[in-house]
Amino acid sequence: LNITLEQVKNYGIQDYLNKKFYCNCGRVHAVDINEILISSSALYQIPDLLTNYGYKKIFMVSDRNTYEAAGRLIEKLLIQNEIHYNKYTFACKEELVPDERALGRLLVEVDKETDLILAVGSGTINDLCRMLSFKLNIPYFIAATAPSMDGYASNVSPLIVNNLKVTYQGSVPKVIIADVDVIKRAPMKMILAGFGDLLGKLTCLCDWKLGSIVNGEYHCSVIEQIVRESLEKCMSNIEGIKNREDEAVKSLLEGLILSGIAMSFSGNSRPASGAEHHISHFWEMMFLLQGKTPELHGTKVTITTIASAKLYNLLITSKIDFDKAVLNARQFNKEKWIRYIEKAYGAAAEDVLALIRQEMSLEPEGRIRRIESIKNNWKAIVDAVEEYIPNSDELRGILRDCGAAVSPSEIGVDEQLVYDSIMAAKDLRPRYTILQIITDLGLLEEFAYSTKKYLSDN
Ligand SMILES: [Zn+2]
Ligand SMILES: [Zn+2]
Repeated sequence: LNITLEQVKNYGIQDYLNKKFYCNCGRVHAVDINEILISSSALYQIPDLLTNYGYKKIFMVSDRNTYEAAGRLIEKLLIQNEIHYNKYTFACKEELVPDERALGRLLVEVDKETDLILAVGSGTINDLCRMLSFKLNIPYFIAATAPSMDGYASNVSPLIVNNLKVTYQGSVPKVIIADVDVIKRAPMKMILAGFGDLLGKLTCLCDWKLGSIVNGEYHCSVIEQIVRESLEKCMSNIEGIKNREDEAVKSLLEGLILSGIAMSFSGNSRPASGAEHHISHFWEMMFLLQGKTPELHGTKVTITTIASAKLYNLLITSKIDFDKAVLNARQFNKEKWIRYIEKAYGAAAEDVLALIRQEMSLEPEGRIRRIESIKNNWKAIVDAVEEYIPNSDELRGILRDCGAAVSPSEIGVDEQLVYDSIMAAKDLRPRYTILQIITDLGLLEEFAYSTKKYLSDN
């Protein structure tokens, strides 16, 4: 099957499944999910689904909250339909963390005969079950309980091992079931987190576009359009999200799942993760190293998206001195930067420095080549920023009106951490984003300082 921009406008989420798309970008796009059910009372379809697929022994995983939200009803349905199962429910006295301990617990509890893992929950439960599914080679279904993050359709498992977040390969769920009656009752904080994670696509899509303009990277406008469509749908009904309306919550969850599908289509997280995610990862790393429970993924991304938008706003309103940028690149003090990375990353510095060495990202040649490219494509860059990026004040206003946290201090992130994250987050991933572009242009320190200030003046 071919896929075009026109088609994307008329496609529903189901239309992307069980097909191979031959795309103008030169790649074949496909995702491994069999079914996605998003409707009112969707949970009642679980017994039929299990029977149709022929599963005989189910391992149901939830935590106490998600058990109350959906697990209890699912269990009743399993019993009524005489489907064999065993279950494990995490106590979650404190926030459940997807770490080696929680994964080990599931390995202890899972029955040898299990032929399907049924995850009941959102971010953490899904991350754990995706990894368990991959390691045991047993398929999994996810019954979503909140529209809180974009990982439902993702195939990577971020896990916290030895207090560091590591991304492992994982399975995609065979079936995603989202009962609108359940997800619209999720805590408002989780709904807003999902909305923030989706809004993060504004800045991440611009990062992707600039990666292709400046750095000649692979880019697919069809995948981009898939993400943009769902983003626009949600932006046009923010009131509905605030009021937990069925259609709005459904669009939000669809948008989040489609972001995951977009990642499968591109073969990496490019369409769903840019500088806003890198800054958020940096905050999370520092929280973990200090033994603090990190906030919800989307709650952090909400704030870092405002930061990234601000950086873009600053970029296109600044007078760029390209000759000075080249001079800066030539005189760049590598040793001094490495010392800064050691200080900013603390215990996690070693891995980051290994990546820097491997990518040779501090060498002046690459930087000078990119500065040339930025200069030659400056008009296209400004046009892209104007097209993709909202004014950070407006974005912050919209989010604040919804009741979302918009300032780092509201989630315990201090000014030093904000500054360090903008300065050093680009070294976490070899990916061209606004952070790399301002580094290339010699504007990083100045912009990190103004953005830190901007985020704290509420
Ligand atoms: Zn494509
Ligand atoms: Zn995300």
